[in-house]
Amino acid sequence: MALTGLDIYKLLPKTNCGDCGVPTCLAFAMALATKKTSLDKCPHVSDQAKSALEGASAPPIQLVTIGTGENKLEIGNETVLFRHEQTFYHPTGIAVEIADNLPIAEIEKKAKHVESLVFDRVGKKVRVELIAIRDVSHNAETFANACKAVAANSTLALIQISSNPAVQEAGLKITAARRPLIYAADAQNYQAMAELAKKNNCPLGVSGNNLDELADLTPKITALGVKELVINPNSKTQGQLLSDVNQIRRLGLKKTFRPLGFPVIVFPADGLNPMSETLFAATFILKYAGIVVLKGSELWQMLPLVTVRQNVYTDPQKPIQVESKIYPIGKVTDSSPILITTNFSLTYFTVEPEVEGSKVPSYILVVNTEGMSVMTAYAADKLNEKIIAKALNESFTVSEVTKEQGQESNIAQKVKIKHKKVIIPGYVATLSGKLEAESGWEVLVGPREASSLPSYLKNVWK
Ligand code: SF4
Repeated sequence: MALTGLDIYKLLPKTNCGDCGVPTCLAFAMALATKKTSLDKCPHVSDQAKSALEGASAPPIQLVTIGTGENKLEIGNETVLFRHEQTFYHPTGIAVEIADNLPIAEIEKKAKHVESLVFDRVGKKVRVELIAIRDVSHNAETFANACKAVAANSTLALIQISSNPAVQEAGLKITAARRPLIYAADAQNYQAMAELAKKNNCPLGVSGNNLDELADLTPKITALGVKELVINPNSKTQGQLLSDVNQIRRLGLKKTFRPLGFPVIVFPADGLNPMSETLFAATFILKYAGIVVLKGSELWQMLPLVTVRQNVYTDPQKPIQVESKIYPIGKVTDSSPILITTNFSLTYFTVEPEVEGSKVPSYILVVNTEGMSVMTAYAADKLNEKIIAKALNESFTVSEVTKEQGQESNIAQKVKIKHKKVIIPGYVATLSGKLEAESGWEVLVGPREASSLPSYLKNVWK
């Protein structure tokens, strides 16, 4: 667990010399505890205290970076067991495995396919991030050729799966600049694997037969100079694996048990059909894998996985929002209906497809409610008659009215409309009278549920 300011103070020289830039050791300790300064600012701290403080200030779960540039993947560095305690920071990486003994044309096709697994969900791009090349051939040249085919056809981060250091080395000649995860070191090969990881500046996977073996192995590897590790307890059943992964997370966070303070890689496919593989992968995305490696890559497998991951890795304190503005849906005209909704992404992306599906070209005016849904925003007074009236009058201009008032200068920035009618969500029907008085617009009360919008727009809107 992180040290408090007082714990840190006990390890400092307590001379209050001020050389660190703050007047007292206690002030420095408090600043260090809140990460507002760094230990190297105190030139007088003893080596013993330094090693204790550096160890305590290291993250309980090591941050590991796989890949480089735009497509690099960061995993680990989590601080809580449950999302509601704070948030989860680094989403589980989803990897698809490609065997090196497939024909090269097939490898190239698969690599391109995995690269294309990008989905647009609630306004964000979500994707599969990794390709894992597995040494099935046990032949260095075949493995290197597979790495070459993947690297040439995909920009994604890579995992090299082989327990043979010679095979790994052949692959690294092609991929080292892409900083792949070398998977995996074990009790037999860890020295050679650690040397490869160190030489090529790559993260290293570590495979043990149980938690004890892993905890025994990782300090030996970090002592060889490789700090970025990803661990796999190789549990015998999926149930045991779930229990082990939970233990690893708990020991890392609650006991600051450094030998297991690393992100975990899991292979939910072993011996399972694609449906079970997907279900287990979803389970391990929720608890608490850093990487899940799948054999399957069907769209029906990937879409639920990226969706469940997006749900659990969204900061609960910062709802996903869309931009507050006018969204024209379809070929809108100056007679098209105007619908009000909020800037909470899930609300907008529930409303938008229904409006599009109605085939009635419409404007959706998204009001800034700080990312709250309709009912929550209404309850928090973030969706009221004043806010809607302001958004309406800043967004639309009714041609005849504007002419009479001589406000042509604003027309270019606003959408011209012939009518002065607005549709509000059924859940805030109670706002209609006050909104009419505030805005001067005729207010129509729409349905409560977005699913009723197509029939409302076709049959009720005039
Ligand atoms: S430099 Fe070190 S000893 Fe001096 S006040 Fe700062 S913390 Fe204390």
